Formats: sequence, structure tokens, C-alpha cells
Amino acid sequence: MKFCSSCGSTVTFHIPEGDNRDRFVCSDNNCGVIHYENPRIITGCLPTYQDKVLLCKRAIEPRYGLWTIPAGFMENGETTEQGALRESWEEAYANLKIDKLYALYNLPHINQVYFIYKAELLDTSFKSSSESLEVALFSEEDIPWEELAFTVVEKTLKRYFDDHKKQNFPLHMEDLDRAVRPGSVR
Ligand SMILES: [Zn+2]
Repeated sequence: MKFCSSCGSTVTFHIPEGDNRDRFVCSDNNCGVIHYENPRIITGCLPTYQDKVLLCKRAIEPRYGLWTIPAGFMENGETTEQGALRESWEEAYANLKIDKLYALYNLPHINQVYFIYKAELLDTSFKSSSESLEVALFSEEDIPWEELAFTVVEKTLKRYFDDHKKQNFPLHMEDLDRAVRPGSVR
């Protein structure tokens, strides 16, 4: 950040009085606002249909042309479930019924938190969109493991197929570190 989004003056990066972290701060001569930056929530679905899952081939950067589950940044004024359903519609026109929260990942090195819901496809009327080159159902043996966009997608799919064999789908929580390929979805 170079300029204050409240008044347009230049900002400095320092620890404000009484705080313990560096923040972008507008000078006291101007509006003096402290600009707090917090992690962003990414919410999405793992859409399932019989023994298959729905994946989208990204039509946008980053990771153009690679496969992902529908997910994106949560918007103001919505719940994580609403965001997951919205992203699934925007990316795949998928009609889904959310089953449960299935995976929660903390990615502190890129300031992101993922909420992934297991959701059931209500029909197969999904199709590609401006955000997806292709949308398709995959069984475990057909998953394009080498062409997945994000590590969280790979982890979620592996867990899902393991859990599917046991027919038990507990919530998976994991903190991912820098070994994970950095990236952000939208
Ligand atoms: Zn200002």
C-alpha cells in the first residue's frame, strides 16, 4: 500500500503506538487511519456425484488450464456456505446441496484460510463458464493428479477418496506451510 484509501495521502509502514505489528498508517497530519490487513477466506465446494467429483479447468490466472474444485474469495455480506455455493455456480453452474464442512486449511505464509464443503450435485446440468474452460466429473482413477491447480485441491481429493472407501467423512483440519506451492484462487 502506498496511499491511504481514506484520504489519498501517502502512508508509512510502522508499529502504531499501543500495537505490536507493523501496519500501514496514514500520517497524523492527514486522516491518521491505521489500515489493518487480515487473512482472506477462500470458500468452496467439493461437489460429489455418485462415486465421482466435479472439477473445473481454470480459465483464469493463476494456474490457467489446471484443474480445481470450485472455490474463491468470500465476499462481504455472505456466509461461508453461501460463498461456496456462489463460487460453484459462477465457475460451473453447479446445483449443489451442501452436506458438511469437510476441510479447513490455514495457509499463514500467504494469509489465507480455506473452507471446503462437501456438497452433493443435484443434477448434471453443470457447464463451463467464463471462469472455467471445462467442467467434468472424475472418478478416482481418472483424476488428473499432475494437472491440479493447488495443493489444497490435491489434499482434499485424496482425503475424499480415502474417506469414501470407509464411508466416513470427518472434518479435516491442517496447517500448510511454505512447502505448498503459493497461489491464490478466484
Ligand atoms: Zn488518510
